[in-house]
Amino acid sequence: MSNLFHELNDKQIQAVQATQGPVLILAGAGSGKTKTLTHRIAYLIAEKGVLPHQILAVTFTNKAAAELRQRAATLLRQNPKAWVTWRGFGSSPALGTFHSICVRILREDTGKIGYKRSFVIYDTADQKASMRDVMRREGVSPKDVNPSTVLGMISRAKNELLSPEEFEPEARGPVEKIASRLYSSYQNYLKQNHAMDFDDLLMQCVILFRKHPDVLKKYQDMWHYIMIDEYQDTNHVQYEWARMLAGKRQNLFVVGDDWQGIYSWRGATIRNILEFEQDFKGALVIRLEQNYRSTVPIVELGNSIIAGNSGQIKKKLWTEKSGEHVPEVLQVSDEVREAEKVLEKISGIEEVQSSNHADLKHEVESSEEITYDYEAESEGTGILDKIMGTMGKGKGSKHVDSVSRKPSKVPYDIGQQKINWNNFAVLYRTNAQSRALEEVLLKYGVPYRLIGGIRFYERKEIKDTLAYLRFLLNPNDSVSLARVINEPSRGIGERSLSAVQGLARAKNQSILLTMLGIEDLDSLSSQRAQAIKQFALVFDRARQSIDELSVTEIIDLLLARSGYLDYLKAQAEEGEERIENIEELKNVAKKFEAIKGLQGLEAFLEEVSLITDIDSYDPEAGQALTLMTLHAAKGLEFETVFLVGLEEGLLPHSNSIIDPQELEEERRLCYVGITRAMDRLYLIHTRQRALHGSIVGNIPSRFLSELNDEHVQFFDEDEW
Ligand code: ATP
Ligand code: MG
Repeated sequence: MSNLFHELNDKQIQAVQATQGPVLILAGAGSGKTKTLTHRIAYLIAEKGVLPHQILAVTFTNKAAAELRQRAATLLRQNPKAWVTWRGFGSSPALGTFHSICVRILREDTGKIGYKRSFVIYDTADQKASMRDVMRREGVSPKDVNPSTVLGMISRAKNELLSPEEFEPEARGPVEKIASRLYSSYQNYLKQNHAMDFDDLLMQCVILFRKHPDVLKKYQDMWHYIMIDEYQDTNHVQYEWARMLAGKRQNLFVVGDDWQGIYSWRGATIRNILEFEQDFKGALVIRLEQNYRSTVPIVELGNSIIAGNSGQIKKKLWTEKSGEHVPEVLQVSDEVREAEKVLEKISGIEEVQSSNHADLKHEVESSEEITYDYEAESEGTGILDKIMGTMGKGKGSKHVDSVSRKPSKVPYDIGQQKINWNNFAVLYRTNAQSRALEEVLLKYGVPYRLIGGIRFYERKEIKDTLAYLRFLLNPNDSVSLARVINEPSRGIGERSLSAVQGLARAKNQSILLTMLGIEDLDSLSSQRAQAIKQFALVFDRARQSIDELSVTEIIDLLLARSGYLDYLKAQAEEGEERIENIEELKNVAKKFEAIKGLQGLEAFLEEVSLITDIDSYDPEAGQALTLMTLHAAKGLEFETVFLVGLEEGLLPHSNSIIDPQELEEERRLCYVGITRAMDRLYLIHTRQRALHGSIVGNIPSRFLSELNDEHVQFFDEDEW
């Protein structure tokens, strides 16, 4: 027992021990919300005799779920009795993301709402392809209405749990009206393909619970204790899902911070926190005020930023953690210097740490030499003006002259040095910002892990391979089929394909079966019919021998027989790289080696579908500098954080500058970024930046002018 509590403060202990009834922990960043949740899992098992499988804990990323599991196991290991229960019972708590838990539920009972057990999960690209198809059928031109806009509207409707019928009267304006009409056809289309998009996973789960109370009861009886991390980012459908599962017991434990709500664009609503006490009668609300993550100046900077937002819950956040480092705002010439600056700083920090000699301190850390005397040059009175003063004239003016860039001071062999890269993270607002950073890191051979941007799973060859596998698993999946039927080219056009689909519908049989018996179709030339049949035979034969095969063998078989591998081999260098990527995919598939046949394939495809950006983050996988967006960074912490691109138009983002509410969300993003830092924080902005193909002059982010300047030093590159 003592083991479980010795690292917790009184409030945290109170929260851990409040095991019955609804509980809300409302507290600032780094105050131990996630830690408390983890300890509560361990406490329930160790002290309350709760069986592991009676616990459901939901987080927003698979990574966070894995971390919860690992931390709870570590805690339980210290308590022999609980360890035996944990290991011996052979069950573990359901720990996962909303999406992964929903998939689990749906796989069991999805037949009850008309989907096959082996339904596939469509990602954004699949959704767009489906929508284009639907629009074509409905006679709506993508030139008039953008498929992504329609999908965005449908997504919002789904997040609000609105069916097509319910959405129709709500639709305002001509585009939304079209979207509401397409919503219904789109749902039918997905259903025909036995496919769900990400929003469906949650919505269909709630529909399943509503239509089949017996299914809901099964889970209510199983999960006695439900916990949700990052509750501020839940939307209506997630709220409803949790509310239904909490049932009569009402053992719902949620933790959140309204200051960190950054997903309102995905329908997250702060209402879920504000009205928790009304929704769940008798709820206990606990506030944690001490931050254990960051040093005094970092916490104070966070507080000063967030104070700029109105209408938020008043909370205190303080820390006792001391540290020598004073956070820095650095102005550099452009995005290349920005990246170099990150490396120079890392090199300086590592040098100091390894030598432990004050006089070896990197020169840029000696404040006397480099403190920028902005008073002397300031043109206005605010800090923004002061910073502007360092930029010469032209507040906000665009200047595209060639950059006069300071020479790099990055040690040429930094990539080979023994550096604890895992301690460092570079955070930015938009994925596009990673390119310049990556180029500099590659130049110096610095190991890095990129989270977001062009993901591995978005590479063409990976998507093609997965589409081959998905069609093998689900012979009704027309989207996957359309993706690969002409990869490599087989001379089968869109018209032939839709003729096959039409025939499959008419005959009420799978597309694969229809393709195998394609001679029936007069409208096709015999040459085309032959090509279609040959293609279908690849899948048919693979299906016949599949029971003995592992996923990697299935991949090899399918890619060889379909001619896809030869097609890549013919592409010289580019093809080689693509084949390497497929080999990498097979590495992922190796995890499922033990499960043969369609079952293994299903498990593999499910895992792949659920992998989100954040999941490529694996601190165990060697030392690497982390690059990621602010959105992906929530809940994480790093010794040193570089928040880059603090410029108007980037943070706050240009799309969000006009709307005051969106601007507040940008401020919360900035707050999330600052509060990821444990010991050191650098905020960098450039004078000009090449982004999206053009070079623009930038003015510093307004958020820099909101920083409490007692706790930060401002540096201009020219002063170093
Ligand atoms: P965020 O809002 O960013 O998700 P959080 O409130 O979930 O933050 P945690 O990640 O749980 O905060 O904790 C932040 C850090 O503080 C962790 O390193 C954790 O181990 C540490 N910590 C939390 N509570 C205590 C405590 N009572 N004593 C010592 N360290 C603590
Ligand atoms: Mg947390």
